[in-house]
Amino acid sequence: DDKSILRDLENQTEDELMLRPQYLNQYIGQNDIKEMLSIYIQAAIKRSESLDHVLLYGAPGLGKTTLAQIIANELGVNIKITSGPAIEKTGDLAALLTSLQHGDVLFIDEIHRLPRFVEEVLYSAMEDYVLDIVLDKERDSRSIRIELPPFTLVGATTRFGDLSHPLRERFGAVFRLSYYTIDEIKQIVRRTSNVYQNKIDELAVDELSKRSRGTPRIANRLFRRVRDFAEIMTDGVITYDVTNLALTKLGIDQKGLDSSDYLYLKGMIERFNGGPVGLESIASTIGEEPGTIEDVFEPFLLQEGYIKRTPRGRVATEKAYELLGKKYYKGLLE
Ligand code: ATP
Repeated sequence: DDKSILRDLENQTEDELMLRPQYLNQYIGQNDIKEMLSIYIQAAIKRSESLDHVLLYGAPGLGKTTLAQIIANELGVNIKITSGPAIEKTGDLAALLTSLQHGDVLFIDEIHRLPRFVEEVLYSAMEDYVLDIVLDKERDSRSIRIELPPFTLVGATTRFGDLSHPLRERFGAVFRLSYYTIDEIKQIVRRTSNVYQNKIDELAVDELSKRSRGTPRIANRLFRRVRDFAEIMTDGVITYDVTNLALTKLGIDQKGLDSSDYLYLKGMIERFNGGPVGLESIASTIGEEPGTIEDVFEPFLLQEGYIKRTPRGRVATEKAYELLGKKYYKGLLE
């Protein structure tokens, strides 16, 4: 029964379904990726072959799942969606793979968290479309071979570095999703306001976009909150003032940073003198999971230049000191 292994797309609300772009030409930004994918997809269709396996990596909420669905739509095939930690046994993987039809897409989110012995079974499936299952390890280790239909594995991960080499090498195409530009986020916000049929001022679009950390998921989440304020205050019209008020109340500043980011930077500067500091130490200082810090907080802080990663640990930059109104003297000493 693969019910629990599969992530259920039926659970999506109608809004979410409408918000999700269905085809490449509706997907905003990531232009290099779209261009390459479009060529690969057209070539696969022309040759009546399955698309080569694709690995997508990048921070959460940048649209990896959305892109996987688009790949399936463009190919005109079905998609099954699961995640690394949901596949606990080789049997789970076998159930998934044998349920695929010719050319289907299997999407594995958080693929770096796939158990190693499951991963090893995946290799031959990816390479030769066969599954070699060992039946009885204890006694005579008989194995059976199951032929699979050609399929496309789309893997997603926030941590490219945590992927084993053999797995990485089995992807024909590897794409890194980047943070979106303000202009791209603005297009997404306008699209969202159309879906929700809310009027929104251009100044409000601009403000909301600046505070969304270059991330579509955050832009859409903030949009919903601002929309609630607008409902009560301005009859649903999203103005600059409503946007500013709502986001400030949510604790999101003009740079898109929230209280967790400040806690992190303050911890680093006040407790560790700006670093270098290891992930575990900073995590325990501010009471957050190291994984969350590494996947969610740090990528944006790195990208915006508030921190740097050195071989000896993370360090706060001059920009971080300025942000917190503290005097930066490190550069002078070094
Ligand atoms: P990831 O898998 O990378 O964590 P995701 O694909 O799950 O991200 P969502 O959280 O689904 O990202 O993204 C939130 C919403 O943002 C999507 O439902 C979609 O409406 C919208 N979105 C994401 N990327 C884009 C894009 N490039 N263009 C337009 N809308 C987008």
